[in-house]
Amino acid sequence: MQETYDFVVIGAGSGGVRAARTAAGLGAKVAIVESRYLGGTCVNVGCVPKKMLVYGSQFSEQFSSAKGFGWGVEEPTFDWPELIRKKDAQIERLNGIYQNLLENSGVTLYRGYGRLLDTATVSVTNVDPNGSTKETAQLKGKYILLAPGGWPRQPSVPGAEHCITSNEIFYLEQLPKRALIVGGGYIAIEFAGILNGLGVDTRLIYRGEQLIRGFDEDLRTELTAAMQARGVQITTQEDLKSIVKKSDSTLTVELKSGEILETDLVLAAIGRVPNLEGLGLDAADVALNERGFIQVDDYFRTNQESIFALGDVIGRVALTPVAIREAMVLVHNLFGNGANNTDQWITPDYQNIPTALFSQPELGTVGLTEDEAKKAHGEIEVYRSKFRPLKHSITGKEEKTFMKLIVAKESQRVVGLHMIGDDVGEMLQGFSVAIKMGATKADFDATTGIHPTAAEELVTMR
Ligand code: FAD
Ligand code: NDP
Repeated sequence: MQETYDFVVIGAGSGGVRAARTAAGLGAKVAIVESRYLGGTCVNVGCVPKKMLVYGSQFSEQFSSAKGFGWGVEEPTFDWPELIRKKDAQIERLNGIYQNLLENSGVTLYRGYGRLLDTATVSVTNVDPNGSTKETAQLKGKYILLAPGGWPRQPSVPGAEHCITSNEIFYLEQLPKRALIVGGGYIAIEFAGILNGLGVDTRLIYRGEQLIRGFDEDLRTELTAAMQARGVQITTQEDLKSIVKKSDSTLTVELKSGEILETDLVLAAIGRVPNLEGLGLDAADVALNERGFIQVDDYFRTNQESIFALGDVIGRVALTPVAIREAMVLVHNLFGNGANNTDQWITPDYQNIPTALFSQPELGTVGLTEDEAKKAHGEIEVYRSKFRPLKHSITGKEEKTFMKLIVAKESQRVVGLHMIGDDVGEMLQGFSVAIKMGATKADFDATTGIHPTAAEELVTMR
C-alpha cells in the first residue's frame, strides 16, 4: 500500500504529536508513524510517570513532618506494586487521549517502525508474532519529520547487562532494599530522591566533582548537601568498573576506586543518545553532527531539503516543552504563515528556558548562572537568601530553602534565578515570564509580596 501525504512524521512523542496535530489543523494531509507508545518518552517512561513516583515518594517526608504538627501517624506501610498499577492505569488513559487527539485532528496513525527509503519515502514495518518483519505501508511525503527522541546510554563495563535504566525502573516488580545509582544529572538525582523517599538504601556515584554540571555553583553545593541530609549517600569522582550477578540475584559492584559493594539494583542514568536505530538515515543520506545527533539548521532542516528533525534527536535541549515549541515553529514555517515565503520563517528562542529538577528538595532555575552572567554582563549583583521554611519551625527539620537572584549591574535586569525548596518548580513558571519580559530588580522590589510564602523572599531581597 502506498499513500501520499504532505507531511509524514516518524515518532509520536512530545514533538511529533504536536507537529502532526498542528499541521493537520492547518489543512495538511498528515501521517504519523509510531513503533512503541503514543506520547513518547515523556508520557510513558519520562516526565509523567516520574512525577507520579516523586509524589508517591514524598509521603515519607510528609508523614514524619506530620508528627510535629500533632498527628499520631502509625508506622506507615508502602505497596510498590500498587503504585505501579495506579501509574500504569493513568499512562494507559493518556495513551488513549493521545490517540483521540491525533484521530480527531485528522492525522492518520500508522503503528510500526518508520524507516526512510529515500528522501521522500517512509516504509512502515511490523514484526509479526513469529519474529519476521513485514512492510505494511509505504508513505510518500512532501515533507518528512524525524522525531524519534532519545534512548538511555548504556555503560560499557563488564557486567553492564545487569544494570537497568530509566526505561525499566518504571516497571520493577519489587522495590529493592538497596540501590546504586550511577550519574549526576537529572535522572540520577530524581531517582535518588524517589528511591530514598521510598525507604531504599540509596547510594549515588558520579564521575565528576560536583553533581548537575552546568547549573549554578551554589545550587550544585546546596543540592548535594540537602540530598545527603535526607539520607542519600553520594560519592563523587567515582564510577563503575564491573558488575557481577550472584546466584541469589544480588549484585557485586566494583568501583573505579577499588571499592567493592553489594547491592540489589544498579540504575545507570548516564545520559541519553539519539534514537537512530533502523531509521534509514543512510538511505536518505541524512547527516549527523559531530556529537552524533541529527544535524539541523536554525529551521530544523537537515542536509536534505525535504527532511526535518526536532526534539531530543537533535541534541539541543532535551525537555518536553522545548520539543513542543520546536514543533510549533516548524509547522508555522511549513504550513502556516511561512508556507509560501521563507522570509516569514521563524526560529524558537532558546534563551531563558526555565527548568525544574524534581529532586527532593526540588530545584528550579531560569536564566544565567553566576559564572555565565559575569561573562555575559561583566559586573553583576548577586542576592542570596537561605532560610528555614515556616513549616520546619514546627517540624524541627533543619532543611533550608535557598534562593539566588542575579542582576546585570548596568541594565539592572534580573538575568538569573535559582532556587531549591518545596514546590520551587511551580513558583518558577511565573517568575520566568517576568524575566523573559526583561524585569529589573526594581520591578521585583516594587511587587508586593504574598505573606507568608517562600516566594515573597524573591521580591524582598536587599
Ligand atoms: P520522544 O518523546 O522520545 O518521542 C519519540 C517517539 O518516537 C517515541 O514514542 C518512539 O517510540 C518513537 N520512535 C522512535 N523511532 C521510531 C521509528 N523508527 N519509527 C516509529 N516510531 C519511532 N522533560 C521535561 O520537560 N520534564 C520532565 O520532568 C522530564 N522528565 C524526564 C524523565 C525521564 C526519566 C526521561 C527519560 C526524560 C524526561 N524528560 C523530561 C525529557 C522528555 O521526556 C523529552 O525531552 C521528550 O520526550 C522529547 O520528545 P521527543 O518528541 O523528541 O521524543
Ligand atoms: P544528563 O545529561 O542530565 O546527565 C547525565 C549524567 O551522566 C551526567 O552526570 C554525566 O556526567 C554522566 N555521564 C555521562 N556519560 C557517562 C559515562 N560514560 N559514565 C559515567 N557517567 C556518565 O542526562 P540524564 O540521563 O540524567 O537525562 C537526560 C535528559 O533528559 C536531561 O539532560 C534532561 O534534558 C532530560 N530530563 C529532564 C528532566 C526534567 O526536566 N526534570 C528529568 C529527567 C530528564 P558529566 O556531567 O560529567 O558529563
